[in-house]
Amino acid sequence: MKILVLNAGSSSVKYSLFEMTDHSVLIAGIIERIGETAASHSYTLANTDRTHADIVSRNHHQALQVLFETLAACRVLNDRRELACIGHRVVHGGEHFREPALIDTQVMQHIAEVIPLAPLHNPANLLGIEEAIRQMGDTPQVAVFDTAFHQTLPDYAYRYPLPEPLYAEHGVRRYGFHGTSHGYVAEQAAQYLGKPLSETNLITLHLGNGASVTAIKNGRSIDTSMGMTPLEGLMMGSRCGDIDPAIHFYLSRTLNLSNDAIETLLNKESGCKGICGENDMRAIHLMAEAGDDHARLALAMYAYRIKKYIGAYFAVLGHVDALVFTGGIGENDAWLREQCCQDMTLFGIAIDPQKNQTPARPCGNISQSNTGLAVLVITTDEELEIAVQSMHCLEHSSL
Ligand code: ADP
Repeated sequence: MKILVLNAGSSSVKYSLFEMTDHSVLIAGIIERIGETAASHSYTLANTDRTHADIVSRNHHQALQVLFETLAACRVLNDRRELACIGHRVVHGGEHFREPALIDTQVMQHIAEVIPLAPLHNPANLLGIEEAIRQMGDTPQVAVFDTAFHQTLPDYAYRYPLPEPLYAEHGVRRYGFHGTSHGYVAEQAAQYLGKPLSETNLITLHLGNGASVTAIKNGRSIDTSMGMTPLEGLMMGSRCGDIDPAIHFYLSRTLNLSNDAIETLLNKESGCKGICGENDMRAIHLMAEAGDDHARLALAMYAYRIKKYIGAYFAVLGHVDALVFTGGIGENDAWLREQCCQDMTLFGIAIDPQKNQTPARPCGNISQSNTGLAVLVITTDEELEIAVQSMHCLEHSSL
């Protein structure tokens, strides 16, 4: 059985085709710069080098045409009936979706209804769904939501201290994101620890271009750092994370910045980029090593803010079985992991410097001790998780 996972953005479509019998990736690729004069398509077939081609892709319709032609030309999908379903990543599911949903017009309507909460993401996700249905109408399509894993938050954690009608009438609350990744690494961590997920308490740190931390109690998300949008929480590559909301009014009044300008500033020009001019963590390290004080400050702030959340989530959880690092930075940045875990013996956190340098893949314990709290480095696989969840959704809906 094969499942295609699609992640449609406003100017790109990422995809992976899985053989579900052994979870192997048959092909994975990305079509970028959709709508620009020169779009590009890069893909990797199992056991081969990356192939790159300039293509014409004026819109998502053409992008998906290229994608399906490539699947046929590479002989990874000889007949569309080989495809059990298409799993779509959808960023925002609002309060409606607690789990993946088999797509029909009603589901698409619900995804459209929460566009005001995710104006940058949901329209593009919907476009991908609409095109996939147009071109592969007979194939079942499943929506997997970034927010769904966090629908278990208690009200006192997801509500903001704002007037009630803002929640009741306008949906202003914490939703949380990166749910597929937090959910996936939680399952992997429980397996590593040899405990049922339903009895496992974790603090999971997804540190990539976007970053979030989740407190997981008995396998369920009970708090998470991202809020109504992915702007809240940790300091990120170019997003500010937690700041005093009054800064917004100050910028508006004193610099005469419009709402749109402030939105761009907080999302695209802040975080590490705001502090040192760079948002890629590898580049920031190189700058710091070359003596750049702004880069050093960015690194120190980034680690400090993670540490504050770890402390807070220890207080929230009481008992923690494992601290989990994942995402491009969490999986690869030994320096950062070391900084986040420094002087944390009070919480039972003490890492082994050598294990931290070369953690076992895809799941390594870098804790000094093999007993007590584990500090795990786990390779996340959001695409596989979307494929697995899509398959379960399909099985349940045909019962
Ligand atoms: P996305 O959120 O786009 O999926 P990733 O999870 O791929 O992002 O993470 C991208 C980040 O990971 C970048 O800041 C990149 O510099 C960082 N990264 C990748 N490899 C390393 C490494 N070896 N050391 C430090 N940071 C790394």
